[in-house]
Amino acid sequence: MDTKYKRILLKVSGEALAGSKGTGFDEPTMETICRGIKQAYDLGVQIGLVVGGGNFWRGRSSGNMERTCADKIGMLATVMNCLAVADQLRQLGVPAQVQTSIVMPQVASVFTRDSAVESMEAGNVVLFGGGTGNPLFSTDTASALRAIETGCDVMFKATMVDGVYDKDPKKYADAVKYDQLTFTEVLEKNLAVMDGTAATLCRENKLPILVFDLKDPDNIARAVRGETIGTLVVE
Ligand code: UDP
Repeated sequence: MDTKYKRILLKVSGEALAGSKGTGFDEPTMETICRGIKQAYDLGVQIGLVVGGGNFWRGRSSGNMERTCADKIGMLATVMNCLAVADQLRQLGVPAQVQTSIVMPQVASVFTRDSAVESMEAGNVVLFGGGTGNPLFSTDTASALRAIETGCDVMFKATMVDGVYDKDPKKYADAVKYDQLTFTEVLEKNLAVMDGTAATLCRENKLPILVFDLKDPDNIARAVRGETIGTLVVE
């Protein structure tokens, strides 16, 4: 097997599914992303997938709504995204199973650590819907949690930028990209990689994160092969 990792957790933001539309689903964009996932899958790596919900709803920017109610809507948005991505993967010939942290058996299987591992070992891409199942968390934290629980070697955070910068590269022309960072640096410098809960969880459990650009979905397979792309965040 020509891969650096045996099992990976890929986190894709909800926003990525919306493409240039900005919200909801953009089917051609979703197909492009899923083709990238298929390329990685075809290399023989086991894949867990967390999709955010930001293309529909984010609890933290929900105005006057009571926060835990807003977060429930956000968690349901992630389930919708998982269903759509799983369907697209299956259309491309990649077996996929959705497991949710919130029990909804008519919609998807219930997440348990053992069934997720079994499913990945059987050759399914397992999509973790519903985040952690708790309000006040993010899908970054859910990704770190599921990655650690299911024994993934690494978490890939596929974003809209090609790595982690010392400041926002869209606003500052002199922003500098890091090739490698520690979680302590991320936390101390308050770098916009992931929220603090996710960073702390990764640091405590020694889960490396590779941050890279999803605008080129071939990057997923590149990362699986161990090519030097993006920014690696380590303990
Ligand atoms: N969410 C939550 N608990 C979790 C994960 C997600 O309450 O464990 C909710 C939260 O409201 C969040 C929304 O789901 O804003 C969508 O997730 P996120 O913002 O992480 O999505 P992304 O920005 O990656 O698309």
